[in-house]
Amino acid sequence: NKKRANDYVHEVYELLKKRNPDEKEFLQATREIFDSLRPVFSKHPEYIANGILERITEPERIIIFRVAWEDDQGKVHVNRGFRVQFNSDLGPYKGGIRFHPSVNSSIMKFLAFEQIFKNALTGQPIGAGKGGSDFDPKGKSDREIMRFTQSFTTELSKHIGPDVDVPAGDIGVGRREIGYMFGQYNRLKGGYEAGVFTGKDPNHGGSLGRKEATGYGTVYFVEEMLKEKGLSFEGTTVVVSGSGNVSTYAIEKAMQLGAKVVACSDSNGYIYDENGIDLETLKQLKEVENKRISEYLKFHPEAKYVENCSEIWTIPCDIALPCATQNELDEIAAQILIANGVKAIGEGANMPCTLEAMAAFQENKVLFAPAKAANAGGVAVSAMEMSQNSMRLSWTVEEVDERLQGVMKNIYNSCLDAAERFGEPGNLVMGANIAGFLKVADAMVAHGLS
Ligand code: GLU
Repeated sequence: NKKRANDYVHEVYELLKKRNPDEKEFLQATREIFDSLRPVFSKHPEYIANGILERITEPERIIIFRVAWEDDQGKVHVNRGFRVQFNSDLGPYKGGIRFHPSVNSSIMKFLAFEQIFKNALTGQPIGAGKGGSDFDPKGKSDREIMRFTQSFTTELSKHIGPDVDVPAGDIGVGRREIGYMFGQYNRLKGGYEAGVFTGKDPNHGGSLGRKEATGYGTVYFVEEMLKEKGLSFEGTTVVVSGSGNVSTYAIEKAMQLGAKVVACSDSNGYIYDENGIDLETLKQLKEVENKRISEYLKFHPEAKYVENCSEIWTIPCDIALPCATQNELDEIAAQILIANGVKAIGEGANMPCTLEAMAAFQENKVLFAPAKAANAGGVAVSAMEMSQNSMRLSWTVEEVDERLQGVMKNIYNSCLDAAERFGEPGNLVMGANIAGFLKVADAMVAHGLS
């Protein structure tokens, strides 16, 4: 059985490489899953017989479309829009929309693929998707953002719906953009379909606690992992990369639990404040004024700004939370963190550590919270937003936070349990991949082949 399982995994991976030769990020994400799943196929030949691995790595559908829009000077621009509808065996496609110049098929597919396992881990009835555009929101006026987003939604609206596909935010897409999408969708449909997007403003159909959920969830997950070893955030020094939605609330929760967060970043550089980041200043700069992180120095001249965001990992810390973007922490950065005595890593972004960095942490016994589990809090609260929309009521922020804590604990326990059952006790990377996979694979078998 072991040989058959290994041959099967190898064969499907070769097929994937052949079919998607240029999709670096997608192949990286699938490689990590494949490595984790070998012991599963030894124990479950029915998954081989049902071709689960071939099927789970091919999106059900990819929609690629033209987005034309006019800037404030009247000049016409064309961007490319995407929606990858990867898997719907557990529920409507669910996942964010990313506006960033790096967006392409490989990035969209890797993100949607990760979403399959992450969403399954939440235990909520949601399938997996991801979308976005290579549009760069940096430096655009509010009206330009609105016109672009409306044009993007005009096409997207043909493919989504509360029971079909429910997008949310991601990099470059926050409450404002979701508001414009929601408005445009309802205008085109001629109705009010509250559950078609999540991450809406809580004053108009959104859930309280959604904005905080990804960052808080990451810290809750890491806290569980630390607890197991008799450790906690109290008195630790923490470095968080990024300064968007995930980072801001990871910083907030880590501080509430007694940590000192000394650094955060944006794509231009990082700030180091040895007294601990001033969260109110950070929120004002990033959430209200849309400024770059270097502006922090105007309020705290004693802090340091370095114009190279990847060097943030040279700062000695006990806990590192990469919350910016994919592959932001490579093997060299990992070795520096290890040499500086890092004890735990929590992935708040999607696939922030390269495969080599992850291996280095594991070899050196650094506690490692993988993205699919550690950043699932955002989409988990999105699913709660869908529930509230269906019931036409809203939960208090306390109720949402309590549910979020429950979800993160459950995810942690199912990862531990799966790792134990498949022969790698304590390996949360493997545990997360396996636990997520089993849930989807069983549904795929139950729903038959088509
Ligand atoms: N973009 C987020 C993620 O990577 C949230 C998705 C959602 O809420 O649907 O999971």
